[in-house]
Amino acid sequence: MNPPAANPPAVTRLRLRITAAAESIVRGGHPWLFADSIHELNRAGQSGELAVIFDRKDKFLAVGLFDPDSPIRVRILHAGKPATIDAAWWQTRLEQALDRRREGFDAGTTGYRLIHGESDGWPGLVLDRYDTTLVLKIYTAAWLPRLAEITALFREKIPADRIVLRLSRNIRAVAEKSFQRRDGQILLGEPPSGSVVFLENRVRFEAEVLQGQKTGFFLDQRENRREVESLARGRRMLNAFSFSGGFSVYAARGGALSVTDLDISAHALDSAKRNFALNTHFPGVASCRHETVQADAFEWLGTGGTLFDLIVLDPPSLAKRATERDGAVRAYERLNSLGIAKLAPDGILVAGSCSAHVPAGDFFDAVRRAALKSGRQFRELKTLQHPPDHPAGFKEAEYLKVIYLQFPA
Ligand code: SAH
Repeated sequence: MNPPAANPPAVTRLRLRITAAAESIVRGGHPWLFADSIHELNRAGQSGELAVIFDRKDKFLAVGLFDPDSPIRVRILHAGKPATIDAAWWQTRLEQALDRRREGFDAGTTGYRLIHGESDGWPGLVLDRYDTTLVLKIYTAAWLPRLAEITALFREKIPADRIVLRLSRNIRAVAEKSFQRRDGQILLGEPPSGSVVFLENRVRFEAEVLQGQKTGFFLDQRENRREVESLARGRRMLNAFSFSGGFSVYAARGGALSVTDLDISAHALDSAKRNFALNTHFPGVASCRHETVQADAFEWLGTGGTLFDLIVLDPPSLAKRATERDGAVRAYERLNSLGIAKLAPDGILVAGSCSAHVPAGDFFDAVRRAALKSGRQFRELKTLQHPPDHPAGFKEAEYLKVIYLQFPA
């Protein structure tokens, strides 16, 4: 009888060839290869294995993570010269992401994004820091077979007490069935007892890391919150779609007279109250009148009532897919018209969009149209897009945009 083989039989590398159009897209650095661009595959691929893409001259073009269950069939890790994707390679990739943030934050900010998916070279993966808790969120099942490996790497390179795993909705079933992984699972350390508190520009916030939206907080609005703080003095502020009141606490610290948080979710508003309470050591927060309104913002804004001097409108994405883009643009225009009607003379509108399917220019134009249609004088103060810890390295990654308009008396 033959002795058992020391190694399992080598599986041939997954190799594929793609259309000419896709070749130039990949060569240009785009991180997604769609299933319909693949015209040759040497065998069936497994989720998460490395797929090597060859060009028409049979030369190495790129290598990426294969995902048989997603229309984005390969998420490119590397394109250009041939490279070996081994432990050292992953380590270098991580260090690049960490280095990019090294200068950006002082001790007053302990909550920020360490890895922002494709744009940091980690396609479909996000890593957020909330004080000593790391939250790892994955958006593709291709990471599931690699979780142990990357968790070990994060643990070695990033000081933290705890790592929490979050899964996008579409991969929860396969994660549970094939990998015994759950959304909210603790990968390292002990579960938190309640919310995790962290600092953003010295403001204390709670993050609901086990089950909150995104990874528990909207870290991407840090720069806009700072702006809002600088505009808030003496103003009555409305924060529509407030979630946990991020913009509101900053406005209060900046001297807002009053802040009204408006959200459809009672749970979000409870968190907003706690975030206010966490910051009463700032005189502005202690003296600011804070109220919460649980309502549909579109309906509530359409009813009469008091006017505000500063209105933040930061709704959830209004276009979940490309086909919803035109409808979303109309919805943004309508929403902002409703907001402008609630603005007192000299009021400021801060209008945001996080819909990747609505380009920044289309969104800004929708808000400007709403302003023009109001018949009021207005001037544009500024626009802001992605903060440095949420880089957007390709067009589809550009989701965040905010425009500031003032309507003089
Ligand atoms: N501006 C927030 C993030 C907003 S997230 C921040 O800086 O943290 C979007 C929020 O909109 C969620 O809290 C959600 O509960 C709320 N929401 C969704 N649909 C709504 C609606 N129709 N009316 C009011 N709030 C809504």
